Amino acid sequence: MSTPPDLSIVIPVYNEEMNINKLYQRLASVLSGMTLSAEIIYVNDGSKDHSLAVLHSLAASDPRVHFIDFSRNFGHQLAISAGIENARGEHIVIMDGDGQDPPELIPELLAKALEGYEVVYARRRKRQGENFLKKFTARMFYRILARITNIEIPVDTGDFRIIHRKIQQILKRMPEQHKYIRGQISWIGFNQTWLEYDREERMGGETKFTYKKMMRFALDGISSFSVWPLKVATISGFLVSGVAFALIVYSLYEKFFGTTEPGWTSLHISVLFIGGIQLIGIGILGEYLGRVSENVKNRPHYIIRDTNLPHDET
Ligand code: UDP
Ligand code: MG
Repeated sequence: MSTPPDLSIVIPVYNEEMNINKLYQRLASVLSGMTLSAEIIYVNDGSKDHSLAVLHSLAASDPRVHFIDFSRNFGHQLAISAGIENARGEHIVIMDGDGQDPPELIPELLAKALEGYEVVYARRRKRQGENFLKKFTARMFYRILARITNIEIPVDTGDFRIIHRKIQQILKRMPEQHKYIRGQISWIGFNQTWLEYDREERMGGETKFTYKKMMRFALDGISSFSVWPLKVATISGFLVSGVAFALIVYSLYEKFFGTTEPGWTSLHISVLFIGGIQLIGIGILGEYLGRVSENVKNRPHYIIRDTNLPHDET
């Protein structure tokens, strides 16, 4: 059993064959300037390219390098979870594998953490090389989320951060299937602070987050930390019912005291309108219910095919 390192670095990898070595070089030179022991845990999230082979050869040449190979693609959040759960360091850095989170920031993150912060997250000042729609939707999402949740989830922040072992131990006790790790970490509390950095462009390849994945991720974030959408469904249900009631009174009045008209238009509009509102309400219920049922099933969050982690824990 080797002694645990001071620092663990967790990096999720999904089809990053062209970035792994470059990022590793940058990371290695940052680490060589620091007087501490470190491990790097790469989580291969079902890559379809040669990422795994690249990781194998890194692991063969550097004993600090570990990998966890998933049986298929489980998604960015679960890849990070696996890395965090298996990290042995006193402090754990979480960063992307495409170079957008600069490893050169790690010494600063660590210095801040050593001042007594359990969490130091990196907040992006600028984002380079990402299109307008991505930046705009991300901006809107974080603002909306901040408004409707009752915990403070920092805006314009990804998962790039350093956390103390204490946080890791608590995360392990939060068994939800749909992870929104940055939200969970905010929820945990302790002393949290941030540093600012300029987000770089991807070194190579394309983003692995399609709009569909981003949408699902956004829904996970909202449904994990807010019941506000359910309230909206209820409130709009009451409003629409109120309007409908007024219309009923009005049409009865017209029938007995006025002149009845064919009234197709109003009929159609009201049926469609109420039908629409009902479907929205049911849809929102479905989003929550689906997540409840997945948590009840209690399946393992991810499946590891192969790893070279030293198994100290059990
Ligand atoms: N990633 C992953 N599984 C996925 C999608 C992405 O492990 O299903 C990894 C990816 O390799 C990268 C990080 O998560 O290291 C962030 O992904 P990406 O750069 O594509 O997201 P973006 O920066 O565009 O939001
Ligand atoms: Mg990226």
